[in-house]
Amino acid sequence: MEDKVVMITGASRGIGEAVALEFAKRKAKIVLVARTPEDLERVRGRVLDAGAEDVLTITTDISKEEEVEVMLDVTLSRFGRVDILVNNAGVGYFKPVVDTTLSEWQTMFDVNVTGLFLCTRGVLPKMLEQGSGHIINISSDVGRRTIAGGAGYCATKFAVQAFADALRKEVQRQGIKVTNILPGMTDTYFANSEQGAEHKRDWLKAEDIARAVLYAASQPPGVLVDDITLHPMVQEY
Ligand code: NAP
Repeated sequence: MEDKVVMITGASRGIGEAVALEFAKRKAKIVLVARTPEDLERVRGRVLDAGAEDVLTITTDISKEEEVEVMLDVTLSRFGRVDILVNNAGVGYFKPVVDTTLSEWQTMFDVNVTGLFLCTRGVLPKMLEQGSGHIINISSDVGRRTIAGGAGYCATKFAVQAFADALRKEVQRQGIKVTNILPGMTDTYFANSEQGAEHKRDWLKAEDIARAVLYAASQPPGVLVDDITLHPMVQEY
């Protein structure tokens, strides 16, 4: 991964932080994106300690078009290219449809779907110019199946899967890979939960997802990984 520029959204904690550390160990140049500057600074320190060649933190709400434009301008003026975009930032509200507010519904779609679209569309011109690039989406196992109490969240992740599958058909012959990672229950801060809570002891760890991302990103140029689904042994599919 030396000399590769890897942009990770939602990099301030959880899966995004673990992905950043995994690429840092392989000496990539890393762009950390999230909304909370203090958390980004903390991760920046860890990423540098882990061996990253260079680190850029950019405070961005990925659901805002103008902020995504600035994020890309800053990245390209610093590094001149983007090799890997990890679309990881995401939010979830889990409750029956009858109790779901319009604001919760819209926030999930704004971040999980529109934000992912904005970041992807933003890096594509540079990747097409380069003739290479890799877009890796942290989707979810509920991007291919549904759960009661997760109708809105499932709908956003089904949208991610459809978007990615169609995009792959548009760009793979131009050297750009599109991969979806579909994790099951993973111990992070997701949905306002506590990382390390006792009831999550047997769940996947953020590092498990990060290794799957690295596996997809480390294949030879002619090998494309479409989807990777991961579950903890305690969760049935
Ligand atoms: P997390 O610990 O809550 O982390 C979410 C990250 O997204 C944070 O860095 C957060 O930082 C960032 N974020 C949220 N809204 C944002 C926005 N509008 N703009 C930019 N960044 C934003 O959750 P996680 O589990 O690591 O989630 C990462 C991804 O994994 C999500 O897409 C989630 O759907 C997916 N996933 C999680 C699980 C699970 O069980 N944990 C399972 C399957 C899939 P700021 O708040 O600072 O912006």
